[in-house]
Amino acid sequence: MPQRYDVCIVGGGITGLAAAYYLERISRQSSVSYAILEASAAFGGKIQTDQLRTPDGEFLLEKGPDSFLTQKPWALQLAKALCLEEELIPINADARGFCVLKRGRPQPILPFLLSPVISPLGKLRMGLEPFVPHRKDISDESVAQFARRRLGQEAFDYLAEPLMSGIFSADPEQQSMQATFPRFLDIERQHKSLLLRMRRGGQDPSFLSYRNGMGTLVKTLVKTLQGRQTSSCGVEMISLLAPNKFQVLLKSGERVECSRLLLTVPAASAATMLPANYPALRTKLQELRTTSSGCIYLSFANHDIRRVLTGTGLVIPRVERRAINAITYVSSKFPGRAPEGQTLLRVFFGGSRNPKIMHQNDEAIAQIALQELESLLGIAARPSLSQVYRYQNGNPQYDVGHVAKSEALMRALPDGLFLAGSSYRGGGIPDCIYEGQRIAEKINASL
Ligand SMILES: Cc1cc2nc3c(=O)[nH]c(=O)nc-3n(C[C@H](O)[C@H](O)[C@H](O)COP(=O)(O)OP(=O)(O)OC[C@H]3O[C@@H](n4cnc5c(N)ncnc54)[C@H](O)[C@@H]3O)c2cc1C
Repeated sequence: MPQRYDVCIVGGGITGLAAAYYLERISRQSSVSYAILEASAAFGGKIQTDQLRTPDGEFLLEKGPDSFLTQKPWALQLAKALCLEEELIPINADARGFCVLKRGRPQPILPFLLSPVISPLGKLRMGLEPFVPHRKDISDESVAQFARRRLGQEAFDYLAEPLMSGIFSADPEQQSMQATFPRFLDIERQHKSLLLRMRRGGQDPSFLSYRNGMGTLVKTLVKTLQGRQTSSCGVEMISLLAPNKFQVLLKSGERVECSRLLLTVPAASAATMLPANYPALRTKLQELRTTSSGCIYLSFANHDIRRVLTGTGLVIPRVERRAINAITYVSSKFPGRAPEGQTLLRVFFGGSRNPKIMHQNDEAIAQIALQELESLLGIAARPSLSQVYRYQNGNPQYDVGHVAKSEALMRALPDGLFLAGSSYRGGGIPDCIYEGQRIAEKINASL
Protein backbone atom coordinates (compact mmCIF):
# COMPACT_ATOMS: atom_id res chain seq x y z
CA MET A 1 0.00 0.00 0.00
CA PRO A 2 1.42 3.43 -0.88
CA GLN A 3 2.05 5.80 2.02
CA ARG A 4 -0.45 8.68 1.97
CA TYR A 5 0.24 12.31 2.86
CA ASP A 6 -1.70 15.52 2.52
CA VAL A 7 1.30 17.15 0.83
CA CYS A 8 4.36 15.80 -0.96
CA ILE A 9 7.27 18.19 -1.44
CA VAL A 10 9.69 17.04 -4.11
CA GLY A 11 13.14 18.61 -3.70
CA GLY A 12 14.82 19.35 -0.37
CA GLY A 13 16.66 22.55 -1.32
CA ILE A 14 15.96 25.73 0.63
CA THR A 15 12.63 26.30 -1.15
CA GLY A 16 11.30 22.83 -0.26
CA LEU A 17 12.59 23.01 3.33
CA ALA A 18 11.16 26.50 3.86
CA ALA A 19 7.81 25.39 2.39
CA ALA A 20 7.70 22.47 4.86
CA TYR A 21 8.66 24.71 7.76
CA TYR A 22 5.94 27.27 7.04
CA LEU A 23 3.38 24.58 6.25
CA GLU A 24 3.98 23.10 9.71
CA ARG A 25 3.66 26.49 11.36
CA ILE A 26 0.56 27.60 9.47
CA SER A 27 -1.28 24.32 9.83
CA ARG A 28 -0.45 23.71 13.50
CA GLN A 29 -4.12 23.26 14.37
CA SER A 30 -5.03 21.01 11.46
CA SER A 31 -1.72 19.06 11.55
CA VAL A 32 -1.21 18.58 7.84
CA SER A 33 0.88 15.49 7.04
CA TYR A 34 3.72 15.88 4.55
CA ALA A 35 6.80 14.23 3.11
CA ILE A 36 9.90 15.85 1.62
CA LEU A 37 11.54 13.68 -1.01
CA GLU A 38 15.10 14.61 -1.96
CA ALA A 39 17.22 12.91 -4.64
CA SER A 40 20.68 13.68 -3.19
CA ALA A 41 22.20 12.15 -0.09
CA ALA A 42 22.13 15.56 1.60
CA PHE A 43 19.37 18.16 1.97
CA GLY A 44 20.01 21.79 1.07
CA GLY A 45 20.30 21.64 -2.75
CA LYS A 46 22.75 24.36 -3.76
CA ILE A 47 23.43 25.23 -0.12
CA GLN A 48 26.22 22.86 0.96
CA THR A 49 29.11 23.57 3.32
CA ASP A 50 32.17 21.31 3.23
CA GLN A 51 34.73 21.03 5.99
CA LEU A 52 38.11 19.97 4.65
CA ARG A 53 40.94 18.80 6.90
CA THR A 54 44.42 19.33 5.41
CA PRO A 55 47.96 19.28 6.87
CA ASP A 56 47.71 23.11 7.07
CA GLY A 57 44.51 22.94 9.13
CA GLU A 58 40.77 22.95 8.55
CA PHE A 59 39.04 24.84 5.73
CA LEU A 60 35.37 25.67 5.50
CA LEU A 61 34.25 25.73 1.87
CA GLU A 62 30.85 26.83 0.60
CA LYS A 63 29.94 24.78 -2.41
CA GLY A 64 27.23 27.25 -3.41
CA PRO A 65 26.05 30.42 -1.66
CA ASP A 66 28.33 32.00 0.94
CA SER A 67 25.91 34.61 2.34
CA PHE A 68 22.47 36.16 2.06
CA LEU A 69 21.15 39.65 1.54
CA THR A 70 19.37 41.22 4.51
CA GLN A 71 17.63 43.91 2.48
CA LYS A 72 15.15 41.22 1.44
CA PRO A 73 14.08 40.26 4.99
CA TRP A 74 12.95 36.63 4.66
CA ALA A 75 16.25 34.80 5.25
CA LEU A 76 16.99 36.89 8.33
CA GLN A 77 13.43 36.39 9.62
CA LEU A 78 13.79 32.64 9.25
CA ALA A 79 17.18 32.69 11.02
CA LYS A 80 15.55 34.54 13.92
CA ALA A 81 12.57 32.16 14.01
CA LEU A 82 15.04 29.25 14.22
CA CYS A 83 16.94 31.01 17.07
CA LEU A 84 20.07 31.22 14.92
CA GLU A 85 20.83 34.90 15.47
CA GLU A 86 23.92 34.08 17.54
CA GLU A 87 25.29 32.08 14.62
CA LEU A 88 25.09 34.95 12.13
CA ILE A 89 28.25 36.79 11.12
CA PRO A 90 28.68 39.94 8.98
CA ILE A 91 31.35 40.50 6.37
CA ASN A 92 34.63 41.45 8.11
CA ALA A 93 34.61 45.21 8.75
CA ASP A 94 38.07 45.71 7.22
CA ALA A 95 37.07 43.97 3.98
CA ARG A 96 34.26 46.30 2.87
CA GLY A 97 34.01 47.14 -0.82
CA PHE A 98 35.54 45.26 -3.71
CA CYS A 99 37.82 45.80 -6.69
CA VAL A 100 36.94 45.91 -10.37
CA LEU A 101 39.41 44.87 -13.04
CA LYS A 102 40.18 47.81 -15.33
CA ARG A 103 42.73 47.45 -18.13
CA GLY A 104 44.17 44.38 -16.45
CA ARG A 105 44.55 45.95 -12.97
CA PRO A 106 42.32 45.55 -9.91
CA GLN A 107 41.01 48.98 -8.89
CA PRO A 108 39.07 49.64 -5.66
CA ILE A 109 35.51 50.83 -6.12
CA LEU A 110 35.54 52.87 -2.87
CA PRO A 111 35.60 55.77 -2.32
CA PHE A 112 33.60 55.95 -5.53
CA LEU A 113 34.33 59.59 -6.44
CA LEU A 114 38.08 58.91 -6.36
CA SER A 115 37.88 55.43 -7.89
CA PRO A 116 39.53 55.02 -11.31
CA VAL A 117 37.01 52.28 -12.23
CA ILE A 118 34.71 54.84 -13.89
CA SER A 119 36.27 57.76 -15.79
CA PRO A 120 35.28 61.39 -14.92
CA LEU A 121 33.10 61.43 -18.05
CA GLY A 122 31.46 58.13 -17.05
CA LYS A 123 30.77 59.53 -13.56
CA LEU A 124 29.29 62.69 -15.10
CA ARG A 125 26.98 60.49 -17.20
CA MET A 126 25.95 58.57 -14.07
CA GLY A 127 25.29 61.89 -12.30
CA LEU A 128 22.81 62.80 -15.05
CA GLU A 129 20.64 59.81 -14.12
CA PRO A 130 18.00 61.93 -12.30
CA PHE A 131 17.36 63.77 -15.59
CA VAL A 132 16.83 60.61 -17.64
CA PRO A 133 13.09 60.39 -18.38
CA HIS A 134 11.41 57.23 -17.15
CA ARG A 135 10.38 54.61 -19.68
CA LYS A 136 6.68 54.80 -20.58
CA ASP A 137 6.58 51.34 -22.15
CA ILE A 138 5.83 48.79 -19.41
CA SER A 139 6.97 45.75 -21.42
CA ASP A 140 10.02 43.89 -20.10
CA GLU A 141 13.53 44.99 -21.05
CA SER A 142 16.98 43.55 -20.46
CA VAL A 143 19.19 44.48 -17.51
CA ALA A 144 21.72 45.80 -20.06
CA GLN A 145 19.15 48.10 -21.71
CA PHE A 146 18.01 49.43 -18.34
CA ALA A 147 21.55 50.04 -17.01
CA ARG A 148 22.74 51.73 -20.21
CA ARG A 149 19.61 53.85 -20.45
CA ARG A 150 19.80 55.13 -16.88
CA LEU A 151 23.51 55.12 -16.05
CA GLY A 152 25.42 55.02 -19.35
CA GLN A 153 27.66 52.55 -21.18
CA GLU A 154 30.66 52.78 -18.88
CA ALA A 155 28.64 52.15 -15.69
CA PHE A 156 27.11 49.17 -17.48
CA ASP A 157 30.48 47.76 -18.64
CA TYR A 158 32.35 48.22 -15.36
CA LEU A 159 29.65 47.96 -12.68
CA ALA A 160 26.31 46.47 -13.72
CA GLU A 161 27.64 43.81 -16.10
CA PRO A 162 30.36 42.29 -13.88
CA LEU A 163 28.18 42.36 -10.76
CA MET A 164 25.24 40.80 -12.57
CA SER A 165 27.13 38.11 -14.38
CA GLY A 166 29.01 37.39 -11.15
CA ILE A 167 25.78 36.81 -9.23
CA PHE A 168 23.56 35.22 -11.88
CA SER A 169 26.15 33.76 -14.29
CA ALA A 170 23.85 35.42 -16.80
CA ASP A 171 24.13 37.53 -19.92
CA PRO A 172 22.69 40.96 -19.02
CA GLU A 173 21.73 41.48 -22.69
CA GLN A 174 19.21 38.64 -22.27
CA GLN A 175 18.42 38.96 -18.56
CA SER A 176 14.97 40.24 -17.65
CA MET A 177 14.73 43.42 -15.63
CA GLN A 178 11.19 42.54 -14.45
CA ALA A 179 12.31 39.16 -13.10
CA THR A 180 15.63 40.30 -11.61
CA PHE A 181 15.16 43.84 -10.32
CA PRO A 182 11.45 44.65 -10.10
CA ARG A 183 12.28 47.07 -7.26
CA PHE A 184 14.43 49.25 -9.51
CA LEU A 185 11.59 49.40 -12.04
CA ASP A 186 9.20 50.51 -9.27
CA ILE A 187 11.65 53.17 -8.16
CA GLU A 188 11.99 54.41 -11.72
CA ARG A 189 8.21 54.62 -12.10
CA GLN A 190 7.47 56.18 -8.72
CA HIS A 191 10.50 58.32 -7.94
CA LYS A 192 11.96 58.78 -11.46
CA SER A 193 15.59 58.51 -10.24
CA LEU A 194 17.43 55.54 -8.70
CA LEU A 195 20.32 57.66 -7.45
CA LEU A 196 18.12 60.22 -5.68
CA ARG A 197 15.96 57.50 -4.15
CA MET A 198 19.02 55.70 -2.82
CA ARG A 199 20.52 58.89 -1.40
CA ARG A 200 17.18 59.61 0.28
CA GLY A 201 17.42 56.76 2.75
CA GLY A 202 17.65 53.69 0.56
CA GLN A 203 18.97 50.86 2.72
CA ASP A 204 22.54 49.79 1.94
CA PRO A 205 22.66 46.17 0.88
CA SER A 206 24.30 44.08 3.56
CA PHE A 207 25.18 40.41 3.62
CA LEU A 208 25.28 37.90 6.46
CA SER A 209 26.59 34.38 6.71
CA TYR A 210 26.69 31.70 9.40
CA ARG A 211 29.73 31.18 11.62
CA ASN A 212 29.94 27.51 10.56
CA GLY A 213 28.76 28.10 7.01
CA MET A 214 25.43 28.33 5.22
CA GLY A 215 24.85 24.62 5.91
CA THR A 216 23.83 25.66 9.46
CA LEU A 217 20.51 26.90 8.12
CA VAL A 218 19.83 23.60 6.35
CA LYS A 219 20.89 21.42 9.31
CA THR A 220 18.70 23.40 11.70
CA LEU A 221 15.67 23.27 9.42
CA VAL A 222 16.06 19.51 8.93
CA LYS A 223 16.32 19.02 12.71
CA THR A 224 13.27 21.20 13.37
CA LEU A 225 10.91 19.64 10.83
CA GLN A 226 8.53 16.97 12.10
CA GLY A 227 7.28 15.48 8.82
CA ARG A 228 8.84 12.66 6.79
CA GLN A 229 12.15 13.71 5.27
CA THR A 230 13.78 11.19 2.98
CA SER A 231 17.05 11.85 1.17
CA SER A 232 18.67 9.66 -1.53
CA CYS A 233 15.21 9.16 -2.94
CA GLY A 234 14.81 10.69 -6.36
CA VAL A 235 11.34 11.02 -7.82
CA GLU A 236 10.97 9.24 -11.15
CA MET A 237 7.47 10.15 -12.20
CA ILE A 238 4.27 11.66 -10.99
CA SER A 239 0.74 10.72 -12.08
CA LEU A 240 -2.54 12.46 -11.60
CA LEU A 241 -4.95 9.73 -10.45
CA ALA A 242 -7.96 12.05 -10.00
CA PRO A 243 -8.45 15.76 -9.31
CA ASN A 244 -6.30 16.56 -6.27
CA LYS A 245 -5.00 12.99 -6.07
CA PHE A 246 -1.42 12.31 -7.11
CA GLN A 247 0.81 9.29 -7.13
CA VAL A 248 4.56 9.83 -6.86
CA LEU A 249 6.84 7.05 -8.07
CA LEU A 250 10.27 7.06 -6.45
CA LYS A 251 13.40 5.69 -8.13
CA SER A 252 13.51 3.04 -5.38
CA GLY A 253 10.17 1.71 -6.67
CA GLU A 254 8.21 3.03 -3.67
CA ARG A 255 4.90 4.79 -4.42
CA VAL A 256 3.54 7.66 -2.38
CA GLU A 257 0.11 9.29 -2.65
CA CYS A 258 -0.90 12.84 -1.81
CA SER A 259 -3.64 15.35 -2.43
CA ARG A 260 -1.28 18.33 -2.96
CA LEU A 261 2.03 18.03 -4.76
CA LEU A 262 4.73 20.71 -4.63
CA LEU A 263 7.70 20.47 -6.99
CA THR A 264 10.66 22.60 -5.88
CA VAL A 265 13.16 20.84 -8.15
CA PRO A 266 14.78 22.72 -11.07
CA ALA A 267 12.33 23.21 -13.97
CA ALA A 268 14.12 20.67 -16.21
CA SER A 269 13.74 17.96 -13.54
CA ALA A 270 10.08 18.86 -13.07
CA ALA A 271 9.57 18.44 -16.83
CA THR A 272 10.93 14.89 -16.80
CA MET A 273 8.60 13.84 -13.95
CA LEU A 274 5.40 15.06 -15.51
CA PRO A 275 3.11 12.52 -17.14
CA ALA A 276 3.19 12.38 -20.95
CA ASN A 277 -0.36 13.74 -21.16
CA TYR A 278 0.93 17.20 -20.14
CA PRO A 279 3.09 17.93 -23.20
CA ALA A 280 2.46 21.70 -23.20
CA LEU A 281 3.42 22.02 -19.55
CA ARG A 282 6.55 19.95 -20.14
CA THR A 283 7.55 22.16 -23.07
CA LYS A 284 7.02 25.34 -21.05
CA LEU A 285 9.24 23.96 -18.28
CA GLN A 286 11.93 22.90 -20.73
CA GLU A 287 11.96 26.39 -22.25
CA LEU A 288 13.37 27.89 -19.03
CA ARG A 289 17.08 28.18 -19.74
CA THR A 290 19.97 27.50 -17.36
CA THR A 291 23.71 27.97 -17.57
CA SER A 292 26.48 25.96 -15.96
CA SER A 293 29.24 27.47 -13.89
CA GLY A 294 31.81 26.48 -11.32
CA CYS A 295 34.37 27.68 -8.84
CA ILE A 296 37.78 26.60 -7.68
CA TYR A 297 39.04 27.23 -4.17
CA LEU A 298 42.80 27.84 -4.00
CA SER A 299 44.68 28.52 -0.80
CA PHE A 300 48.16 29.98 -0.38
CA ALA A 301 50.51 30.62 2.50
CA ASN A 302 50.13 34.29 3.54
CA HIS A 303 53.80 34.99 2.75
CA ASP A 304 53.14 34.03 -0.90
CA ILE A 305 50.66 36.89 -1.29
CA ARG A 306 52.84 39.86 -2.19
CA ARG A 307 50.13 42.41 -3.01
CA VAL A 308 47.45 43.79 -0.71
CA LEU A 309 44.08 42.19 -1.46
CA THR A 310 41.61 45.05 -1.05
CA GLY A 311 37.99 44.41 -0.08
CA THR A 312 36.04 41.17 -0.46
CA GLY A 313 37.18 40.32 -3.96
CA LEU A 314 37.67 41.21 -7.59
CA VAL A 315 34.90 41.39 -10.18
CA ILE A 316 35.94 41.10 -13.80
CA PRO A 317 34.01 42.92 -16.52
CA ARG A 318 33.30 40.99 -19.74
CA VAL A 319 35.06 43.72 -21.73
CA GLU A 320 38.33 42.76 -20.00
CA ARG A 321 38.16 39.37 -21.79
CA ARG A 322 39.60 37.09 -19.11
CA ALA A 323 39.22 33.33 -18.68
CA ILE A 324 37.64 33.71 -15.23
CA ASN A 325 34.66 35.76 -14.00
CA ALA A 326 35.43 36.85 -10.44
CA ILE A 327 37.55 36.12 -7.38
CA THR A 328 36.35 36.18 -3.77
CA TYR A 329 38.99 36.75 -1.08
CA VAL A 330 37.30 34.21 1.19
CA SER A 331 39.62 34.50 4.19
CA SER A 332 39.30 38.31 4.12
CA LYS A 333 35.51 38.22 3.73
CA PHE A 334 34.48 35.99 6.65
CA PRO A 335 36.31 34.70 9.74
CA GLY A 336 36.94 30.99 10.27
CA ARG A 337 37.10 29.93 6.62
CA ALA A 338 40.83 29.14 6.49
CA PRO A 339 43.45 28.15 9.07
CA GLU A 340 45.83 30.73 10.49
CA GLY A 341 48.56 31.66 7.99
CA GLN A 342 46.50 30.78 4.88
CA THR A 343 44.83 33.04 2.30
CA LEU A 344 41.85 31.30 0.75
CA LEU A 345 40.58 32.46 -2.65
CA ARG A 346 37.51 31.35 -4.61
CA VAL A 347 37.74 31.77 -8.39
CA PHE A 348 34.51 31.65 -10.42
CA PHE A 349 34.36 30.43 -14.01
CA GLY A 350 31.90 29.44 -16.76
CA GLY A 351 28.38 30.82 -16.97
CA SER A 352 27.03 32.59 -20.04
CA ARG A 353 30.38 34.30 -20.64
CA ASN A 354 32.60 31.30 -21.00
CA PRO A 355 30.59 28.06 -21.30
CA LYS A 356 33.44 26.13 -23.01
CA ILE A 357 35.61 26.11 -19.88
CA MET A 358 33.07 23.72 -18.32
CA HIS A 359 34.43 20.94 -20.59
CA GLN A 360 37.89 21.18 -18.98
CA ASN A 361 38.91 18.75 -16.26
CA ASP A 362 39.80 19.89 -12.74
CA GLU A 363 43.58 20.01 -13.40
CA ALA A 364 43.12 22.19 -16.48
CA ILE A 365 40.77 24.49 -14.53
CA ALA A 366 43.40 24.80 -11.79
CA GLN A 367 46.05 25.70 -14.39
CA ILE A 368 43.84 28.40 -15.92
CA ALA A 369 42.94 29.83 -12.50
CA LEU A 370 46.58 29.88 -11.37
CA GLN A 371 47.67 31.67 -14.57
CA GLU A 372 44.95 34.27 -14.01
CA LEU A 373 45.90 34.75 -10.34
CA GLU A 374 49.52 35.33 -11.35
CA SER A 375 48.56 37.82 -14.01
CA LEU A 376 45.90 39.71 -11.99
CA LEU A 377 47.13 39.48 -8.38
CA GLY A 378 50.82 38.58 -8.79
CA ILE A 379 50.44 35.24 -6.98
CA ALA A 380 53.02 32.83 -8.40
CA ALA A 381 53.13 30.18 -5.64
CA ARG A 382 51.83 26.61 -5.51
CA PRO A 383 48.50 26.39 -3.72
CA SER A 384 48.21 24.36 -0.52
CA LEU A 385 44.60 23.50 -1.38
CA SER A 386 42.79 23.16 -4.70
CA GLN A 387 39.13 22.15 -4.82
CA VAL A 388 36.75 22.48 -7.78
CA TYR A 389 32.94 22.60 -7.53
CA ARG A 390 30.66 22.57 -10.55
CA TYR A 391 27.01 23.58 -10.92
CA GLN A 392 25.80 21.77 -14.03
CA ASN A 393 22.73 23.69 -15.25
CA GLY A 394 22.79 25.23 -11.80
CA ASN A 395 22.05 28.82 -12.75
CA PRO A 396 18.46 29.57 -13.79
CA GLN A 397 18.38 32.26 -16.48
CA TYR A 398 15.61 34.84 -16.26
CA ASP A 399 15.44 35.89 -19.89
CA VAL A 400 13.40 38.90 -21.00
CA GLY A 401 9.75 37.80 -20.72
CA HIS A 402 10.48 35.38 -17.86
CA VAL A 403 7.79 36.73 -15.51
CA ALA A 404 5.06 36.30 -18.14
CA LYS A 405 6.38 32.80 -18.98
CA SER A 406 6.37 31.75 -15.31
CA GLU A 407 2.89 33.12 -14.78
CA ALA A 408 1.61 31.22 -17.82
CA LEU A 409 3.19 28.07 -16.40
CA MET A 410 1.49 28.50 -13.02
CA ARG A 411 -1.86 29.05 -14.74
CA ALA A 412 -1.45 25.83 -16.73
CA LEU A 413 -0.98 23.62 -13.64
CA PRO A 414 -3.71 21.10 -12.79
CA ASP A 415 -5.48 21.62 -9.43
CA GLY A 416 -3.36 20.45 -6.53
CA LEU A 417 0.00 20.71 -8.35
CA PHE A 418 2.32 23.56 -7.32
CA LEU A 419 5.72 24.72 -8.56
CA ALA A 420 8.18 26.87 -6.62
CA GLY A 421 11.90 27.56 -6.46
CA SER A 422 14.66 29.49 -8.09
CA SER A 423 13.72 28.34 -11.60
CA TYR A 424 10.67 30.57 -11.47
CA ARG A 425 11.08 33.49 -9.07
CA GLY A 426 13.89 35.18 -7.21
CA GLY A 427 17.42 33.93 -7.66
CA GLY A 428 18.66 34.24 -4.08
CA ILE A 429 18.10 32.50 -0.76
CA PRO A 430 15.77 35.19 0.68
CA ASP A 431 13.53 34.95 -2.39
CA CYS A 432 13.45 31.14 -2.20
CA ILE A 433 12.43 31.32 1.48
CA TYR A 434 9.73 33.85 0.63
CA GLU A 435 8.53 31.57 -2.17
CA GLY A 436 8.44 28.61 0.23
CA GLN A 437 6.36 30.62 2.67
CA ARG A 438 3.99 31.95 0.01
CA ILE A 439 3.41 28.53 -1.52
CA ALA A 440 2.86 26.93 1.93
CA GLU A 441 0.12 29.48 2.58
CA LYS A 442 -1.42 28.74 -0.80
CA ILE A 443 -1.32 24.98 -0.27
CA ASN A 444 -2.74 25.23 3.24
CA ALA A 445 -5.58 27.43 2.02
CA SER A 446 -6.38 24.90 -0.70
CA LEU A 447 -6.62 21.91 1.66
C1 LIG B 1 27.46 28.96 -7.12
C2 LIG B 1 26.25 29.59 -6.56
C3 LIG B 1 26.39 30.62 -5.64
C4 LIG B 1 25.26 31.23 -5.10
N1 LIG B 1 25.45 32.23 -4.20
C5 LIG B 1 24.38 32.77 -3.59
C6 LIG B 1 24.56 33.66 -2.50
O1 LIG B 1 25.68 33.96 -2.09
N2 LIG B 1 23.44 34.16 -1.90
C7 LIG B 1 22.18 33.81 -2.29
O2 LIG B 1 21.20 34.30 -1.71
N3 LIG B 1 21.99 32.92 -3.31
C8 LIG B 1 23.04 32.40 -3.95
N4 LIG B 1 22.86 31.45 -4.94
C9 LIG B 1 21.50 31.08 -5.33
C10 LIG B 1 20.87 30.12 -4.31
O3 LIG B 1 21.81 29.18 -3.89
C11 LIG B 1 19.70 29.38 -4.96
O4 LIG B 1 18.79 30.32 -5.50
C12 LIG B 1 18.91 28.52 -3.99
O5 LIG B 1 19.76 27.78 -3.15
C13 LIG B 1 17.98 27.61 -4.80
O6 LIG B 1 17.21 26.84 -3.93
P1 LIG B 1 16.06 25.87 -4.49
O7 LIG B 1 15.51 25.15 -3.34
O8 LIG B 1 15.09 26.67 -5.30
O9 LIG B 1 16.77 24.90 -5.52
P2 LIG B 1 17.92 23.81 -5.29
O10 LIG B 1 18.86 24.24 -4.25
O11 LIG B 1 18.43 23.52 -6.66
O12 LIG B 1 17.13 22.56 -4.74
C14 LIG B 1 16.41 21.67 -5.56
C15 LIG B 1 16.52 20.28 -4.97
O13 LIG B 1 15.78 19.37 -5.78
C16 LIG B 1 16.46 18.14 -5.79
N5 LIG B 1 16.01 17.31 -6.92
C17 LIG B 1 16.28 17.46 -8.24
N6 LIG B 1 15.69 16.47 -8.95
C18 LIG B 1 15.02 15.70 -8.06
C19 LIG B 1 14.21 14.53 -8.17
N7 LIG B 1 13.97 13.95 -9.36
N8 LIG B 1 13.66 14.00 -7.05
C20 LIG B 1 13.88 14.55 -5.82
N9 LIG B 1 14.66 15.66 -5.67
C21 LIG B 1 15.21 16.22 -6.77
C22 LIG B 1 17.92 18.55 -5.88
O14 LIG B 1 18.80 17.50 -5.48
C23 LIG B 1 17.96 19.75 -4.94
O15 LIG B 1 18.29 19.39 -3.62
C24 LIG B 1 23.97 30.82 -5.51
C25 LIG B 1 23.82 29.78 -6.43
C26 LIG B 1 24.94 29.16 -6.96
C27 LIG B 1 24.78 28.04 -7.94
